[in-house]
Amino acid sequence: MRPLGGVLFDVDGVVVDSPHERAWQEALEALMATEWRAIAPETRYAPERFTTAVYQSEVAGKARESGARAALDYFGVPDAAERAGVYAERKQEVLLRKIAAGKFVVFSDATRLILELKARGVLLAAASSSRNASELLRRIRVDAFVEHQNPRRAPVALGATLLDLFDADLCGAAVARGKPAPDLFLAAARALGVPPPRCLVIEDAPSGVQAAKAAGMTSIGVARLADEALLAAAGADRVVTTLDQLDPDALVEGQIAARAA
Ligand SMILES: [Mg+2]
Repeated sequence: MRPLGGVLFDVDGVVVDSPHERAWQEALEALMATEWRAIAPETRYAPERFTTAVYQSEVAGKARESGARAALDYFGVPDAAERAGVYAERKQEVLLRKIAAGKFVVFSDATRLILELKARGVLLAAASSSRNASELLRRIRVDAFVEHQNPRRAPVALGATLLDLFDADLCGAAVARGKPAPDLFLAAARALGVPPPRCLVIEDAPSGVQAAKAAGMTSIGVARLADEALLAAAGADRVVTTLDQLDPDALVEGQIAARAA
């Protein structure tokens, strides 16, 4: 990577431990137990088969409708194309209930990295496929976090939220093709005014890593779910298990190799 110009953050699974996975699981379990009960025996679905690994490989990072379709195809649900819309809608209802109930947590390593990069003048974009991601970022105050945890004292106004730290918010932006296509990341690079080869993408899903590579960007996969192999196979330039493994000074220089021990 050439000297860093911008960093594009996926949100769900990178910045926020949002309840998407559980919402997908619970919505399908409910449908299979009620409206779709008649077709359930024809499928390979069972609640315990909808694992985190299945979520990560089939659904994570994709736009809502294509994620729904991919999960139904995976479980061999008949008429998946017709049913995907209903499933996507139900998942959204479950998700919104969970968000309203505050059932999500922020990853402090991501907050630290965002603040460190911001303090170094790196341009930042939020680039989630999810239309709900901006709202999640807006609910997270960073001023108190900075007070206690940010030694460099990145300039953060009283009452600032995580969303305020991003120079561009592309979450849920209308693009022709979702991840793994590069459209959203290319739109984010344009919004920042940074050429793609000087952009770094932080992702937790294989589809997102593929999208970054298709955009001609450098990508770092954060494997929070012991899925290092999936991210490496998707083409991540580096895989870490926590963003604290990254050295912000080195990143600014365009170095993504591991910090010397
Ligand atoms: Mg993600």
